[in-house]
This record gives sequence, C-alpha cells and structure tokens, in this order.
Amino acid sequence: MNCVQDSYVLSNGVKIPCVGFGTWKLLNDDTSVDIIKTAIDCGYRHIDSAFGYHNEEAVGKAVRGCGLKRSELFITSKLDNPDHGYENTLKEFSMTMNNLGMDYLDLYLIHWPIPLKNRENWKEVNQGSWKAFEELYQDGKIKAIGVSNFLEHHIDSLLEAATIAPMVDQLELHPQYVQRETVNYCKEHRMIVEAWSPLIKGQLGNPLLLDLAAKYNKSPAQLVLHWSIQHGFLPLPKSSSKERMLENMDIFNFEITPEDLEEMKALEVFGITGPHPDSAPF
Ligand code: NDP
Repeated sequence: MNCVQDSYVLSNGVKIPCVGFGTWKLLNDDTSVDIIKTAIDCGYRHIDSAFGYHNEEAVGKAVRGCGLKRSELFITSKLDNPDHGYENTLKEFSMTMNNLGMDYLDLYLIHWPIPLKNRENWKEVNQGSWKAFEELYQDGKIKAIGVSNFLEHHIDSLLEAATIAPMVDQLELHPQYVQRETVNYCKEHRMIVEAWSPLIKGQLGNPLLLDLAAKYNKSPAQLVLHWSIQHGFLPLPKSSSKERMLENMDIFNFEITPEDLEEMKALEVFGITGPHPDSAPF
C-alpha cells in the first residue's frame, strides 16, 4: 500500500480503500458535513459510518456535495444493536439508505454480535439479520457484507446458517489491543480486518510510542497507523482537523523493524479501550 486510495480486495473481488475515515462522534450537522467533505478533499475515499452514530444524513450530504461521483467513494454503514433479526434488519437498512440518500451501500456490517435485549437468542437473531444481508447483497443494494466486533464463536454461529460468508470484520485493534486469535481466524476465513480506534482514541502519549515515532521521524499517530497497515489491517482514523487528516494519511513511506514491532508488544498491557463484544451494555 502506498496511499489511502490503494485498495485491499475483498473475497468477492470488491476493492476497498486501505484506510477509511472514521465518523463516530460526528453528527447530522453542518460542521460534520464540512468535516467529512474536508476528509474527501484531503483524499480519503472510504467513509465509515453507522446507523447508531446518527450521522448518516451528514455522510450523504458530504458525498453529494463533494464533487466526486458516488462510484468514486466507498461508504460503510452498520446495523444498530436493537434491530437484529430478519424483518428489523430490512426495515433499518431502508432507513439507512433513506438517511444516506443513496441507492446502494458499499459495505454493510452487523455492528455488535450480542444486543442487550437478545442475550438469550443472539444466534437466531444474527442469523435472521444475515439472511436479510444476503438478500440485499444478492439484489445489488450492498456491494459487500460483513460483521463488526464479532469474535470467532460469533462468526462460527453465523456460518452455521450462512450461504455467503462475511467479507469483513471490524474490530478494536491497535498496539494496545491486538486480538491475535480473532485476526488469525479472519485471515483463515479470507476476511479483511478493519481496525477501529486505530489511534487508541488519541491516547498517544506513551513514552515508548513517542520514542519510536521520533526514531522514524514520524508522529505517534503515524506510527500506530503504519503499524496497522503493516499488519494488513484497514485502519479507520477519525479526526476533525484537516491538519490531522493529512497527517493520518502520510503513513506509507517507512517500515517498522521486526525488533521495534516486538518492543511495541509491551503496550499490550494496557488492553481494550471499548466494550467487550460478549458483554457490551447496549
Ligand atoms: P481513533 O482511534 O480514530 O481516535 C480519534 C481521536 O484521535 C480523536 O479524539 C481525534 O481528535 C484524535 N486524533 C486524530 N488524529 C490525531 C493525530 N494525528 N494525533 C493525535 N490525535 C489525533 O478513535 P475512534 O474511536 O473514533 O475510532 C475510529 C473510527 O472507528 C470511528 O470514528 C468509527 O468510524 C470506527 N469505530 C467503530 C466501532 C465499532 O464498534 N465498529 C467502535 C469505535 C469506532 P480530533 O478529532 O480532534 O483530531
């Protein structure tokens, strides 16, 4: 990969730009539309949204106002937690497309595997959602389908009833939280792994990160984003500032040595920053 517009290829042949622009915490307001348009102006071609972020309308407005063709952008959204199950999924997908004002989606993900209200029947409702995903995919309304925050047992249970395997898993992934087993499982199942909170939510002050970044003449943000690319992940950095958007794209022209990658494993002591998929309280 040499720039954010270079692509990974999903198991169905669809190309996906190797860095996505994260939009969590952006809302349906003019400021957010401007931020997303700025990201596209900077060169981002892949936007990561979700029904639950309440910003799909802003994403749609930014895409329509950015001067590029729809086909030049890769747009992801996600099925929200209370709405798992076949019928609910079809209804929410229709709302998502209405919010975005688009006639197709590039990638649709089940956002979390175990909604609070489905603690007892999560396998069945996920299989129902997946059936709806498969139909929407076969109808051409979605170019690729996948999951988010799914660990091995969640994917296994989906596969019991699936006719199309998920193409993506979007996971919390950064040098503090590496999820090796799930990542290896995804690789074995030809799933591209997307990395959420790839900047550790901006908590980049660890002395080891500062030292290593200085060694490569990069910022700590650039170091951790390159770490992601070097592992074959697809990072989704979010920033509200143009300067940082540009900084977060300039991550390709160096290589972290195996010794330094080994040293970065010391950061794993800090661990997960978000909810665990088996016990997320929503
Ligand atoms: P990130 O790891 O992308 O960090 C974002 C934070 O880092 C912001 O506070 C931002 O501040 C700051 N930041 C951005 N660039 C820099 C920089 N160069 N140097 C220092 N600080 C910087 O966190 P997110 O949690 O937003 O994750 C990224 C995306 O992943 C989300 O936006 C969303 O799209 C997705 N996601 C998916 C989840 C899921 O369950 N599937 C869960 C969480 C996130 P500022 O804006 O001021 O620049």
